[in-house]
This record gives sequence, structure tokens and C-alpha cells, in this order.
Amino acid sequence: MSKQEKILAVKGMNDILPADAPLWELFENTAESILKSYGYQKIVTPILEETGLFARAIGAVTDIVEKEMYSFTDSMNGDLLTLRPEGTAGVVRAVLEHNLVYDGPKRLWYKGPMFRHERPQRGRYRQFFQFGAEAVGFAGPDIDAEMIMLCRRMWDDLGLDEVRLELNSIGNAEERLRHRADLIAHFEANIDTLDAEAKRRLHTNPLRILDTKNPAMQELVNNAPKLLDYLEAESLAHFEGVKRILDHNNVQYTVNPRLVRGIDYYNRTVFEWVTDKLGAQGTICAGGRYDPLIEMFGGKATPGVGFAMGIERIIELMKSGGEMATPNQCDVYMVHQGEAAQMQAFVLAERIRDAGLDVVLHCATPTGAGSFKSQMKKADGSGAAFAVIIGEDEMANATAAVKPMREMGAEQAVVPFDDVVDYLVDQITGGGGGHDHGDHTHCTHH
Ligand code: ATP
Ligand code: MG
Repeated sequence: MSKQEKILAVKGMNDILPADAPLWELFENTAESILKSYGYQKIVTPILEETGLFARAIGAVTDIVEKEMYSFTDSMNGDLLTLRPEGTAGVVRAVLEHNLVYDGPKRLWYKGPMFRHERPQRGRYRQFFQFGAEAVGFAGPDIDAEMIMLCRRMWDDLGLDEVRLELNSIGNAEERLRHRADLIAHFEANIDTLDAEAKRRLHTNPLRILDTKNPAMQELVNNAPKLLDYLEAESLAHFEGVKRILDHNNVQYTVNPRLVRGIDYYNRTVFEWVTDKLGAQGTICAGGRYDPLIEMFGGKATPGVGFAMGIERIIELMKSGGEMATPNQCDVYMVHQGEAAQMQAFVLAERIRDAGLDVVLHCATPTGAGSFKSQMKKADGSGAAFAVIIGEDEMANATAAVKPMREMGAEQAVVPFDDVVDYLVDQITGGGGGHDHGDHTHCTHH
């Protein structure tokens, strides 16, 4: 048989390996419990949607729809489908399809993979995960501020202190139209300074030029007419309302007049949480209000606001925060020699799990079950607090040897089979030496 060539993951799509899984779990648990504490409910929508949904929701002249979508024809029936590039369109579709707002506004959250055909680089992948929230049916600045504050709580709980909030208002469609005319005039008067991409966007989506990262255009962009100066009373009052609540709750922010969103449906409040610790891809969360979206979908006018966090970037940031605890794989590792002992180990392992402890039972590899010594090495590597050892002598006496793996100088005990569960529970949860059971993410072993 000839050796097969290795098949690798699709470019720009990552595996999340066990070493990182505890960080993902910590993020997800934190995020979900915070969202719950603010009254948000979970919603799950399909990863595939009709292409038209995104074309309509996100806007035809955006980066996403122009060049980043994974779209294909379903070979079975010719349907045009797209792997979702973001979460809002699907959530809003579901809200309308199931009339979720019939009895009043809804606070929702979602998480899952998103797909964009971008150039892979640090913090930018073709499959990436977002955690997001949408509040549908709320019109005032209060919900905008609430969303921002729940993000702050997230960073606090995750220990991420080097993130800052940028805030802006992009007004409504009419205000943007008047600003747009002046903006185009400003850029046309300086046409030689524009790069090719900016020239291309000049008449399709000039607001996006403000987003440029091209250093040669920074001065031009800094001197451009500011959308904030075009806002009228209602938009200004909304923006002031958001700021008032944030100020009152000691939320620090900077107003960034150049902050716009890459997606068409946003209006009024836009915000980003950014960090300097991740290089060019420093935005870990982006959000804003999208009052026009639901009507664009054929629903009756219903305001909305939401945010999406890039989980990979947040995990990166969590890692950069210094040493991370290595989690224990289990509480107990079962070591056994001989068939009868293995049978006993299976039964005992089940009973220990019944008591709520995590047990890894030693199993055979291609070279066999392994010597006692090699099994003890595995027990050590597992991070278990205890090894439970059953050999021929133990079988003869109906006892197990229970060996503490983490505490220096702690005694090995000989425990009758029937007492092993109580003994372990007492040792592990009953103040028997500081093992912090039940909070695995924070357990460390060295
Ligand atoms: P960027 O300016 O970085 O391209 P964006 O405006 O396209 O971001 P949004 O569509 O607002 O991003 O998505 C919200 C968040 O999702 C971003 O702030 C970022 O944290 C994350 N994100 C977006 N695209 C990617 C990607 N290709 N890979 C990893 N994370 C991403
Ligand atoms: Mg993008």
C-alpha cells in the first residue's frame, strides 16, 4: 500500500485544538452568562442562507457582498446559496419569519462560524467565529448603552484591560446623503491623493473611504467633512442620550468621527471595541444601530441594534494577557493491570463519575495496555489529582491503591473498592487539600 498525501484544512480555516479549547470555553461561558444576566435569549440560525438575503441586507457595494462571500449553486436544485458572512441578516430573517416581535421587543444572542473570502492573516480568517447580540424593537439610546455596557462587563470578567471604546453616530439616510455630497466634493478636489480603491468607491460608497488604512490618505481623510456636523436634532439627541448613560456609568469612550461601518444597514449609533495588542486587526467587537434593516426585509418598520465580537481575536488577546492556566484533563486516572483488574476499573470508574468526578480510564494503544510504569506516566500527564491503581494484589484484597498526584509528601492510601468513591469525593471536594473541583478552567498543574 502506498502512502497517501496528507489532506490539509482549507486555507484560512482553523482547527481549534484541545490546548485552546479551555480558553474558548471560558470565553463562551462568560459571554453566555453575561448575556443571560441582561435578559438576552439564545437564537440559532442556519449557516447557509439564500444569497439574496445577504445581498439585500448587507448592501451590494460593500466589501462583503462584492468580494468576500462564499456563494455557490446547489447542484441538486439550482438554488443560489451563501455561507453566512455575518449573523445579523439571518437573525433578522428568523425574527420576521417567526414573528418573534409580535408581543414586544426581543433581546437575542447567537454564536457560530462565519465565512468570508478574505486574505488570511493574523486575526483575519476565512472561517471565523462571532459571538453577537441583537435587540429588536427598541428605539431609544438606552438599549444602545446597555449593549455597550454588557461588552464592558465581558472585558472586565475576562480580565482584558487593554481595550477601549470608540463611538460615533452616523445619523440617518438623509443626513448621510447631504454629508455624502460634500464628502465626494472634498475627495474630487483632491483626486490625486486617492488610491485606486478609494477612486473606485468615490461614487459607490464614499463613506468607506474614511475607513482607509492607507497612510498617504490620512491627512485628506482627517480633513474631510465630518458626518457628526450634519446630524439634526433627533439624531443628535439620540447620540447625546447614549453618551449621557455611558458617562453616568463611568464608561470611558472616545468619539471617533471617522468611525463608520462596512455594512450599509447601520444608522445612528456605531461603536467599536479596539485594542493595540493585536496589530492591524485590533477591533474585537463592532456594533451599531440598524433601524432601516427590517423594513428592507419587507417587515413593518422595527428598530434594531446589535454587535458582533470576533472570538479568535478575543482568544488571542486573552493569551497575550500572560500565563494561562493549564486545565486538568480529569480528577482521577484509573491504572490497572490484567483483565480482571480492568473489569473492576470500568465498574469503579462509572461509580466515581456517578459522584460527579471526571475520570480517565487507561485504555490500550497499538502496543498494548502498557506497563504499570507507563500507565503512571499517563496518569501524571493527565493532571489528575489522584491515580486509582488496581493490580493483582488489589484484586486479591478487593482494595484499590489511591495515590495523590499533586500534593508533595501526601500518603498513598489502600481503600476497599466499596469505599473508593466516598474517599475520593472527600479528598477532592471536602477540603482535602485545596483542589478546586467544579471549576476546571482555573485548575492548574505544573
Ligand atoms: P474589519 O474591518 O476587521 O474587516 P469588519 O468591519 O469586516 O472588520 P464586522 O463585519 O463588523 O467586521 O465583524 C465584527 C467583528 O468580527 C470584527 O470586529 C472582528 O472582530 C471579527 N471579524 C470580522 N472579519 C473577520 C475575519 N475575517 N476573521 C476574523 N475575525 C473577523
Ligand atoms: Mg472586513
